[in-house]
Amino acid sequence: MEFQYTAAEQQFRDKVRTWLTENTPRDKRPVDGMPMREFDMAWQRTKYAGGWGGVAWPKEYGGGGLSLIEQIIWFEECARAHAPTLGSLNVTVSHAGPTIAVRGNDEQKSFHLPKILKGEVFWCQGFSEPGAGSDLAGLRTSGVVDGDHIVINGTKIWTSHAHLADYQETLIRTDPESKRHRGLTWLIIDMKTPGIEIHPIDTMSPGARHYCQVFYNNVRVPLANVVGKVNDGWSVAMSTLTFERGSTAAAQAMDVSQAVEDLIVLARERTGPDGRRKAIQHDDIAMRLATHRAEAAALRSMLYETVSRNTEGPMAGAESALTFLLCGELMQSVRETAHDVLGANMLEVSGEFEDWTRHFLHDRIYMIAGGTAEVRRNIIAERLLGLPRSY
Ligand SMILES: Cc1cc2nc3c(=O)[nH]c(=O)nc-3n(C[C@H](O)[C@H](O)[C@H](O)COP(=O)(O)OP(=O)(O)OC[C@H]3O[C@@H](n4cnc5c(N)ncnc54)[C@H](O)[C@@H]3O)c2cc1C
Repeated sequence: MEFQYTAAEQQFRDKVRTWLTENTPRDKRPVDGMPMREFDMAWQRTKYAGGWGGVAWPKEYGGGGLSLIEQIIWFEECARAHAPTLGSLNVTVSHAGPTIAVRGNDEQKSFHLPKILKGEVFWCQGFSEPGAGSDLAGLRTSGVVDGDHIVINGTKIWTSHAHLADYQETLIRTDPESKRHRGLTWLIIDMKTPGIEIHPIDTMSPGARHYCQVFYNNVRVPLANVVGKVNDGWSVAMSTLTFERGSTAAAQAMDVSQAVEDLIVLARERTGPDGRRKAIQHDDIAMRLATHRAEAAALRSMLYETVSRNTEGPMAGAESALTFLLCGELMQSVRETAHDVLGANMLEVSGEFEDWTRHFLHDRIYMIAGGTAEVRRNIIAERLLGLPRSY
C-alpha cells in the first residue's frame, strides 16, 4: 500500500485544480425538472470540451484514458472546488456508459458512448420493481422475443429521473421458466418508445419529484438493443452494480469529506445552541466534528487502498460495499450534526443554508439506493468475512 502521490500525480492534480478554478459554474444548480437536466448536461459538455468528460474512460470513445488514481484525484479536486457533481447524470456517466463500454458490442459502443460523454443524452436505470429491490433476481417484468424485437410488459419503480430520460438501462425476464438469476436480459430502451407510461412519485425532498414508477404496455424494443446476450443479463447487471457502487461511492466519499470541512468552518463562525459560545466550543459538537473528520479520513484511506490494489480494473464489488456503507452512514451523521450547528436555519427551504436542509432530507436515500445498508452488510459478512449466507 502506498499513500504518497507521485510527482506526475501531483502535476495532474495542479492541472485539474487550475482547470476547475477557471471553469466551475457559479450559477445555482436547479434542483428539479428540465432546468436541472439542462444544467447537469451543460456541465458535462463543459467538462468534455476541456478533456474531462470521462476521466478514466477509454480514449477511443473520447475519454481521458487515465488511471483510477487520477480519477480519485479528479473527484477530490471537484469536491474541493465545490464543482457540481454528476447530479442527475450519475446513471448516464457512472454506470450506463461504463457498462456499455465493457459489455456492449461495437455498434452499441460507437453509437452511445460519444453521446454520453458529450452530454447529449440522459439515461435512467430500470432495475427495481415492486417486490424486487434487494431481491433483484426476483424481478418479473417480462420480455418476449417476437421476430427481431422484444415485447416488454410490467413495471419498474423508484426509477430516478425516468421522466427526463432519453434512454433506460433495463433488466427484464426473457425466460419465464427460468429461476432467479438465469433468464434475465439487460436491454437499452429508448424512452420515447410507444407503450411507456411514467408516473412521478412525490418524496419529502423539497421541490423534488425525482423518482418514478414506469409501466410497460407491449413496448417493442429492437433485439439489437440487448447488451450481452438474451438470458445472460445477470452478469451484465453485476458489471453495472460494480460501477454504481464503486465510482459513485468514490465521488460521494470526496463530497462528504468536503462537507465535514465546510461544517467545521460553519461551527467556528456560528453561535452554538447555548446562544453564547461558538458552536465548535460545545464539547458534544466538537467531539462529533472530530469523529466525522476521522471517519472521512478512514473512508478516503479505504478508497485509496482499494484503488492502489486494483489500478488496472474497476473497484472490486465486495470491497465497494464497505466504502459504500461507511459513506452512507457518514452522510447521515454529518447532516444530523449540521442540525445542531445551523439550528433554525436547517428549516430553510430557500436561502443561504438551503443546500444543508435539502441534503438532510435527501441523503437518506444513500442507505437505500444501490443496495440497502442491510444488503451491504450481508455482502461484507458473506464475501469479505466468509460468514454463512443469511438467506
Ligand atoms: C431515492 C431512491 C432512488 C432509487 N433509484 C433507483 C433507480 O434509479 N433505479 C432502480 O432500479 N432502482 C432505484 N431505487 C431502488 C433501490 O435500489 C431499492 O429501493 C433498493 O434496492 C431496496 O429495495 P426495496 O425498496 O424493494 O426494499 P426491500 O428490498 O423490500 O427491502 C425492505 C427492507 O428489508 C431489508 N432487507 C431486504 N432483504 C434483506 C436481506 N436479505 N437481509 C437483511 N435485510 C433485508 C432492506 O434492507 C430494507 O430495510 C431507488 C431507491 C430510492 C429510495
